[in-house]
Amino acid sequence: MVLKTAYRCRTPDLSIDEPMNGVVFFLAVNFIVAACFCAVFAVVATRSISRAAALWFAAGFGIASLSAICELLIAYAPYPRLSGAGAFMTVLAGMLLLFVGLCRLYGRRMNGWLAALFFITSSFVSDLVYAAPRSGALHAFAYQTPFALVILASAAVVWLSPRRLTIDRVLAAVLLVTGLHFFAKAGLAVLVGSGAVATDYINTSYALISQSATAVLMVSVGLTLLSVLVLEIMADERSASEQDDLSGLSNRRGFERGVKAAISASPNLPHAVVLCDLDHFKAINDTYGHHAGDAVIKCFGSLLRTLAPKGAIVGRVGGEEFAVFLPNTSVQLALLLAQALRAGTTTMTVAGLPPSLTVTASFGVADLRAPDAIEEMLRLADMALYDAKGSGRNRVCEARNPAPPRQAHLRPVK
Ligand code: GH3
Ligand code: MG
Ligand code: MG
Repeated sequence: MVLKTAYRCRTPDLSIDEPMNGVVFFLAVNFIVAACFCAVFAVVATRSISRAAALWFAAGFGIASLSAICELLIAYAPYPRLSGAGAFMTVLAGMLLLFVGLCRLYGRRMNGWLAALFFITSSFVSDLVYAAPRSGALHAFAYQTPFALVILASAAVVWLSPRRLTIDRVLAAVLLVTGLHFFAKAGLAVLVGSGAVATDYINTSYALISQSATAVLMVSVGLTLLSVLVLEIMADERSASEQDDLSGLSNRRGFERGVKAAISASPNLPHAVVLCDLDHFKAINDTYGHHAGDAVIKCFGSLLRTLAPKGAIVGRVGGEEFAVFLPNTSVQLALLLAQALRAGTTTMTVAGLPPSLTVTASFGVADLRAPDAIEEMLRLADMALYDAKGSGRNRVCEARNPAPPRQAHLRPVK
């Protein structure tokens, strides 16, 4: 009997003379928005390094978009209880898929069985309370709490992850607000009522508020998630454009950006740089082939990576020229590192070169003399490197003090 009254079915009344039901409008908007996000995340997945996460998001929005159709079916088709279950399950499944994607993106393990159990139990409970009075707290909270829990758990995954960019913080905040709004919705349903029976829902003010809030929050969550993935793609492309493929070190552009970032992170002097240049490298190429020369570059790159202290910026700044910027390091310490690198170079064994051949390199060391004098520091280190080459190679030279400005030659004025 209860079922008969609760499942009363209505025919659509969207005649041209009457304004369109606002809830139907928002359901259509929500369907289109969710379907668009589904398509956009599927496209982003083709470029994203977090491909799996983007695909989970696409699936989540795709499934959740179906809930708008189910909501319409409740009002305008037979078997509203079935459509009601469909509306609940598609939203919850969509949210759980989003949660899976967030766990992938933020590197958190999740228990698939627990998620499946949660989904089945919540769907069962929501169906149980279907016939309970809709204005009662039991119905309202039993319906909304599972949504709130999944989204709040998603917010926690983002907040607790080691990724701490501003966009990650914004995403956690948007998810927190979205999660809490489900409790607010339940309270509102109790206060203003969500229709005596399910089929009445679509004509209530509550439905209008609920569906418009869904539209706003879905767009906020979708756009923030999209920003996370797009910023990740941009950072990845930038790091690829600042990396040297052969040595695996930063290229000149990456090195210069790294130096500027290190100086602004710690503006107080001292800072120092070691410039390195392989000796007679052209002869290695000419004698053993370009391939062997490449192997020397790789080997020297990995020597620099191994010996450079934590926080150093290491780059291949020319064909066979390398630089190591040492933040918070005196020129004396930089000279010691350069000596260690020089000694290390002579012990390198490079595939393709005879073991009897000793590879050597020359080094120029200079310190930063003013926070904005990076060019000057590199010029002084280059001159020191030139000195090292000129005095026989396989050695380390420190930058000389720049000559004091010349005194103007004054002629006595007659
Ligand atoms: P010096 O001791 O004075 O530095 O002499 P050098 O032969 O090392 O210097 P030079 O500038 O005469 O030659 C550098 C050579 O490095 C010329 C160039 O063909 C080679 N080179 C530049 N980039 C690469 C690279 O990526 N791979 C290889 N194998 N060789 C490269
Ligand atoms: Mg050179
Ligand atoms: Mg050279």
